[in-house]
Amino acid sequence: MKNLTIDKIEVIELNIALKEPITISLGTFNSAENIVIKIFASNGMVGIGEASPERNIVGETQPAGFEIATFLAAGLKGKDPLAIEDRIQDMDRTIQGNPTIKSAFDMALYDLLAKKAELPLYQILGGGNTREIYTDMTVYLGSPEKMARQALDYKNEGFPTIKVKLGTTSEEDIERIRAIREAIGFEIPIRIDANQGWNTVTAIKILKALEPFNIDHCEEPIPHWNNTDLRRVRDHSPIPIMADESVFDHQDAFRLASMGATDYFNIKFSKSGGIHNAIKINAVAEAAGIKTQVGCMSESRYALTALCHFVAAKNNVVYFDIDSSLSHAEDPVTGGIQYMGKGKWELPEVPGIGGDFDPAFLDKMRTAII
Ligand SMILES: [Mg+2]
Repeated sequence: MKNLTIDKIEVIELNIALKEPITISLGTFNSAENIVIKIFASNGMVGIGEASPERNIVGETQPAGFEIATFLAAGLKGKDPLAIEDRIQDMDRTIQGNPTIKSAFDMALYDLLAKKAELPLYQILGGGNTREIYTDMTVYLGSPEKMARQALDYKNEGFPTIKVKLGTTSEEDIERIRAIREAIGFEIPIRIDANQGWNTVTAIKILKALEPFNIDHCEEPIPHWNNTDLRRVRDHSPIPIMADESVFDHQDAFRLASMGATDYFNIKFSKSGGIHNAIKINAVAEAAGIKTQVGCMSESRYALTALCHFVAAKNNVVYFDIDSSLSHAEDPVTGGIQYMGKGKWELPEVPGIGGDFDPAFLDKMRTAII
């Protein structure tokens, strides 16, 4: 059988307005500045991927990602798009790091593979589309009163779980959760995320103080590099710990699991470099008896669709934080996962990832053709 080759790659900026600015402990964001990758194969098929660079967490930006994408693309041209392991190795040899922009290529290659096989991506990954996918909804940093109002709105909209951004001072953070619980009651689960905003001593103090508020788990309490102290926090915390910024790839996952530093991993394609390595992280987690969550940066419904295919195929993923597009004021995606209300996403039953971008929306965006 004659191998396919990569004939052409398009790199396209994707700028999406947010409903309102978003604040976490690491900074404030006013819009989603993403990148779309389209890989054109010699049989006329097109694989599509999307990346959402988050400068405060991964250290990537849209302009830098755009430039790096042009030479990653040059290194892939003429090669077999279905040999995904080799293509990822090509990218890793071209440039160290930069997992977010690499994840858009990885996603496009998987889309192409599934389209070529004429199967939805979840089947390629070994799944059956039977899992119910309900996302949590995130309340971003603000005053306790504002956050409590927001949490109540989301509860009334029917979201099954509220995720709350914390990570400033112990007084403020404890008051935020107290105000939110007062507004929404105790029956709906809360997850918290400090985004590295606490130090070890404060983290232990706050997590102990939050014990009565019935919290599912806490993401990244302390700076991402301090794995030793993450274990200390875990040892003293009544609330389970989830590693997010401290687990980018499967090597991080192996180290943290070996150290006993965390209860859960949060897997994001923007950190892992895409689906290929996300599978490895989840496998390391399974081997260590660690359940995982999937999360997002500011992806559109397209990259979230790829993420839902992954969820459909990996039963070890038990928490779903798949809410970024719900904070966008515009939706540039055609097809893809459909929002059914009350936090529920439904996967499309078409070959590939099963979505695209509205051409009229992309026409306005800067494009490079390689
Ligand atoms: Mg997080």
